[in-house]
Amino acid sequence: MEMITINCPYCGGQVTRNRYDYFANCPYCGREIAFDEIKEEAELDLYRDRIVELQHNNSAFEQNRRQEEESRQKLRRWIKRRNIAFTVMTLMHGLGFAIVGGVQDEDSDLMVIGVTLLMAAWGTLIASVILLPLAYPSYNYLTGENRPVNRFSLFLKLTVTAIALCTLSLLVGFIVLAILGLI
Ligand SMILES: [Zn+2]
Repeated sequence: MEMITINCPYCGGQVTRNRYDYFANCPYCGREIAFDEIKEEAELDLYRDRIVELQHNNSAFEQNRRQEEESRQKLRRWIKRRNIAFTVMTLMHGLGFAIVGGVQDEDSDLMVIGVTLLMAAWGTLIASVILLPLAYPSYNYLTGENRPVNRFSLFLKLTVTAIALCTLSLLVGFIVLAILGLI
């Protein structure tokens, strides 16, 4: 039951009543108050409550929308980072393999560069599959739920993808060497 407080039209005392009652007795002067006289006030109160409710809903909606936009941006940044890391890794791996496979002299500087590139590629792979799942945004804007992301399955997916990319770069490196007649 929703109670509101009004002023008695006869004595000015405070009368608490159920919003939807038609009559009440003032506890101060004992007179019966018909609420038709103050109905407008009660209706105004109702409208004010409704306005407050609408404003609240609107700000909740606005907050949701902002949160969603923020999550989208976070996800976009994450995807960009993943693409950069995987591209750099794949290029270093392919180039490193091509150099190591193509260089005849094992003591040359080129060989050192090739091995360094291969090691840098593997380092990037390990760092990516560990750091990227940790950096993944926790708020899922697609479902709107703030539930925890399964970072382990993300780790597995990234690892499989990274290994596939490195294998592909080996294949490309191998083809390049074969075309150059170095293998
Ligand atoms: Zn009164």
